[in-house]
Amino acid sequence: MLRRVLWYCNELSRNQWVGPEKLRRLQEKRLREIISHAYNSVPLYKEKFDAQGIKPEDIRSLEDLRKLPFTTKQEVREGIPHRSIARGFDLRNCIRASTSGTSGGPMPVFYDKRFWDYCQAAWIFRKQWAIGVEPWQKVLVIEYSAPPKRGQDRSREPAEERRESRGRESLGPIVRLLRGRRRSVPLFDDANQVLTHMLRFDPKLVRGSPSYLRLLAEAMADRGVDGLANRVVRTEGELTDVETRRYLESSFKCRVFDEYSSWDFGNGAWECTRREGYHIDADMLIMEVVRGGEQASAGERGEIVVTNLLNYAMPLIRYRVGDIGILDDKYCSCGRGLPLLKSIEGRMADCFALPGGQLIAPRTIMTAIQGSPGVSRYQAVQESMSQVRIQLMKRKSEPDAANEELVATCRRILGEDVEIEVSNTERTNFRAKFRPVISKVRVAEEPRMTG
Ligand SMILES: [Zn+2]
Repeated sequence: MLRRVLWYCNELSRNQWVGPEKLRRLQEKRLREIISHAYNSVPLYKEKFDAQGIKPEDIRSLEDLRKLPFTTKQEVREGIPHRSIARGFDLRNCIRASTSGTSGGPMPVFYDKRFWDYCQAAWIFRKQWAIGVEPWQKVLVIEYSAPPKRGQDRSREPAEERRESRGRESLGPIVRLLRGRRRSVPLFDDANQVLTHMLRFDPKLVRGSPSYLRLLAEAMADRGVDGLANRVVRTEGELTDVETRRYLESSFKCRVFDEYSSWDFGNGAWECTRREGYHIDADMLIMEVVRGGEQASAGERGEIVVTNLLNYAMPLIRYRVGDIGILDDKYCSCGRGLPLLKSIEGRMADCFALPGGQLIAPRTIMTAIQGSPGVSRYQAVQESMSQVRIQLMKRKSEPDAANEELVATCRRILGEDVEIEVSNTERTNFRAKFRPVISKVRVAEEPRMTG
């Protein structure tokens, strides 16, 4: 298995530098293989393809992929295990991951071991190396949930659960070798505890959500720790706006990179040191951006749709991720042939729906709020079509924000028909994933998107 992981490392390293044409041929070959497998071994896809009168041999190229229907998270979730998991895969031998519960509840995701090895190779040897962190250098991950305790009594869990989870313990040998070099700490209520861990462990790379890294930066300032010198920080799991990145870079005194991925499909897109966009792991997945059911043009906002090319245990074909993104038609000056995702704009479900029918992406709202003087942490909630509440969460030492200016900025985006209420609260810390923009308004699918 060690040989296999090393083989994949080598392959993935090479794939990122091949030109777009060669990469496309690889994608199309892998696409034909996974489509044929999904049709023949996964009842969910056989039914969906049959309903459209599509046979696997109809799908030969990236353009052909557009003939296939979209797949929703709900369809996949409801089909586990018999309709969504490929025949011939024993879940006891699969790696179980779980997506966060923010899009309609958590969904277990099963990776076959080959795909898991590919993921390891991609995470450690490609994505991390691309921001100047070598595989043997120490990494600290600030995680959402506490890792399971050692010796925890698992006898009360259903037998099925215990069996399904076993695969996760058989991570690759490379990971075992590197385990001591990677450490996870949970989101403690007090960022000071995380800081203490970090200073003791002395990692080269610190990974965490932008909102929590902000707390860490504040804890550092409180304790008089002057930056992270030549370390590297990577934000993940939440949207990072320009202002937050600037704040983190000036506090940490090091470069901050961002990435976009999900447990659903294991990989995604990441920044290299040039930061000209997010390199899509195009040899492992096909990422489309769709608007009104059609392909969005480069530079246009739309919903991210992913086809995983390598997970044979639980194939995802034209899977609607529920996030909004913008593709780029340019390539990065680093020379990698991996296409670029220009921007990640937030979750579909958190778009603000305006009375006129337009949808405003979370990033647009974040950029407006974060750009207002005196704003640090905040949460903007659309309570109803005509009411938005912005809560500014500040520390005692911070000056008041210019609320009138903030309202005026938001009004330029949201229009005159939406009531905007701004309140100030004392900030509390958190353990869960933080969403700065939340919408409680449910809208029909595929509405017009303007912002
Ligand atoms: Zn690049």
